[in-house]
Amino acid sequence: MITTILTTATILCSQILGSPTIDRYEGWVMANVEIECPEDIEYLRDIGARSLACYDHPGQTQMLMTEKMVENARLHRIETKITERDIANYIKKIDQIRGEARTAGVGGWYSDFKTWPEVNQQLQQLANNNPKLASVFEVGITHEGRAIRGIRITSPGDATNRKRILFNGCQHAREWIAVMVPVYIAEHLIEGWYNNAEIQSFLDTTEVIIVPIVNPDGYEFTYAVGGDRFWRKNRRNNSGSCEGVDLNRNWDIDWNGGDSTSTSTCSDIYVGPSVFSEPETQAMRTLIESLPNLVTHIDFHSYSQLILKAWGYTSTPHPDDNIIQALGVAMHDAYQSVHGEQYTVGTPGDILYYADGTFQDWTTSIGTLGYTIELRPTGSPGFDLPPSEIVPTCEESFEGILAMMRFISNPVTVSFPNGLISFVTPGEMHVLHVSMQPTFGGEVDPTTAKIHIRYGETGVEGTVPLEHTGNGLFKANIPGSFCGLSTEFWFEVETTTGQNQRYPAGNAVLNVGAAQLVEEITMDQNPNWSTDGLWSWGQPIGGGGQYGNPDPTSGATGNNVMGYNLNGDYESNLSEKHLVAGPYNLSGNQNTQLQFSRYLNVEQPMYDHATISVKSGNDSWQTVWTNLSEITDDQWQAVSYDISTVADNSPELWVRWTMGSTDSAWQYSGWNIDDVYISTSIESGMVGDVNCDGLVSVEDVLTIISSWGPCEGVCAEDIVPDQNINVSDLLLVIANW
Ligand SMILES: [Zn+2]
Repeated sequence: MITTILTTATILCSQILGSPTIDRYEGWVMANVEIECPEDIEYLRDIGARSLACYDHPGQTQMLMTEKMVENARLHRIETKITERDIANYIKKIDQIRGEARTAGVGGWYSDFKTWPEVNQQLQQLANNNPKLASVFEVGITHEGRAIRGIRITSPGDATNRKRILFNGCQHAREWIAVMVPVYIAEHLIEGWYNNAEIQSFLDTTEVIIVPIVNPDGYEFTYAVGGDRFWRKNRRNNSGSCEGVDLNRNWDIDWNGGDSTSTSTCSDIYVGPSVFSEPETQAMRTLIESLPNLVTHIDFHSYSQLILKAWGYTSTPHPDDNIIQALGVAMHDAYQSVHGEQYTVGTPGDILYYADGTFQDWTTSIGTLGYTIELRPTGSPGFDLPPSEIVPTCEESFEGILAMMRFISNPVTVSFPNGLISFVTPGEMHVLHVSMQPTFGGEVDPTTAKIHIRYGETGVEGTVPLEHTGNGLFKANIPGSFCGLSTEFWFEVETTTGQNQRYPAGNAVLNVGAAQLVEEITMDQNPNWSTDGLWSWGQPIGGGGQYGNPDPTSGATGNNVMGYNLNGDYESNLSEKHLVAGPYNLSGNQNTQLQFSRYLNVEQPMYDHATISVKSGNDSWQTVWTNLSEITDDQWQAVSYDISTVADNSPELWVRWTMGSTDSAWQYSGWNIDDVYISTSIESGMVGDVNCDGLVSVEDVLTIISSWGPCEGVCAEDIVPDQNINVSDLLLVIANW
């Protein structure tokens, strides 16, 4: 086998920057096509146009077409714009960019896309250099006799009972970035084992299996002279004019079900002669069946910047959708945190349309949480991602998989559905809504949910049970303590099987200070904010709700609100419509928070958007929050956002709520906003300064003594928060005298 690989490598390395596809697409052009409905895609497929997207979808998409097809599409009223008339020239340009990137070498091994032999060599080298952590293995052999290779990575020791995670790339041959990312993950997990305690601890309990190239025949064909840069399928000989099966339609989950599938051998989405007909899908199935305790799986593809979850083949939600969605959102947030690239989470049906027989659905059907991640870019230039974006795409993907590893390390997933503020006010109770959901089945025992609170890093810890309001939702009362140090807190909860979860791993820190209400807009009077579209002030009439819930019939307090269409749903095909409040002068202020009451119904973000943003002066708008899923409020929600990075010290703060854009179907009742508060706080005081006079003195002792005894709720004197004003509080004052 090694001889074969080396021989192939020698031949292919000299050809890698050759120009495949030159003759194959004589007479073809590349076009941007505006798809309005699935029928348009069907029509284009029928006339022989080749989509370059991994999943076809409504909106603008890249296609390979002949001039005749372009003409027909236009006659069919499908807007089609030719972007490249000379495919050979396109390929030459791509090769030139790649050649330059390879010569410059920025990013080392990741400076340019790598061929199958180069990837195999890299995996082998990783294993050779780290034999106690990694080993290369053969998954199976393809139609053309190539070995599909994988690498196993875990800490030394018996891995039998460890959790397992699978990452693979390149079911689709032309999606080159989907090969680079899994190799990067392998390399950086190994490297992380030596210098990152968190990664080492993951690998102590988890075995990671990585198969960067599931489809080496197709992948090599996209590089070969006489090959096809635009090849998607494997290289099955279909004994006719067309080769190949779409491996990501060959899995046994609604195989050949008719959603984004074809029985034509010439189609890019050909399902194959039978379910699991292909050596590549068979080999991956055999591998997976040999992996007990396979918890999660990611199948990397490009492009569109999507995190696709199960199910892909049906609109019926998965019974564990809350967990599947939570992990999707965790990865989404991690992806976006690195370079600010926007990714979207959802099922293929939510985001694009259904697809049958896919890998992610099959792994999900056997009890693993399977995802498809469509990597960069969002659109043009499609799978010909510039080589300069390889490293950034790998970096954000690595954060994404770390988020996955963190997630599966936690038996309970803790989140804050109404936001998390960054300071509390002395003497006032802040109610924090906390969601605690089991990560992998089982149940949370609500009687074990508690919050640990202490003041400052060295304060004495108090523990208070959480109030369970049903369905894993809790209310935590965060005491706005006293003039002194920050409030630190963390949660603890157990599952009914006795697994303990602490959240966060460290402590959450809230600054404590005297809150200053900068603005209080109760909506009892018209605030006369700048409005656009159907934004207006008044009493909502409970209208709308074609999907989701209707509007409320009054404000959270009083009758009136600022709402988008007080009489019903938002419109279809809406552009962004803004409600702008401000300007507010926050000079000299810090810890600025935005709080308001929300009653919002909006479709999920692939279709419809609801956004909050802020800006200072003439700076650009910064997004504070946007819907990451469908939102269907049926009661008023108190929400709080930390806007300090933009608002603190701003002489001119603007706050904006946006309805839209929206798509052509499914209307919801949209935004209703009431009781808007902008507050800031001055951090002040010292530990033990119970009465906030700037001194720890006998006055503070007297204040404690005068309130001696049990404390209901929050007491400013209960500076060791144990709901008792007692000797521990007194001792803390004396200690800070
Ligand atoms: Zn793909």
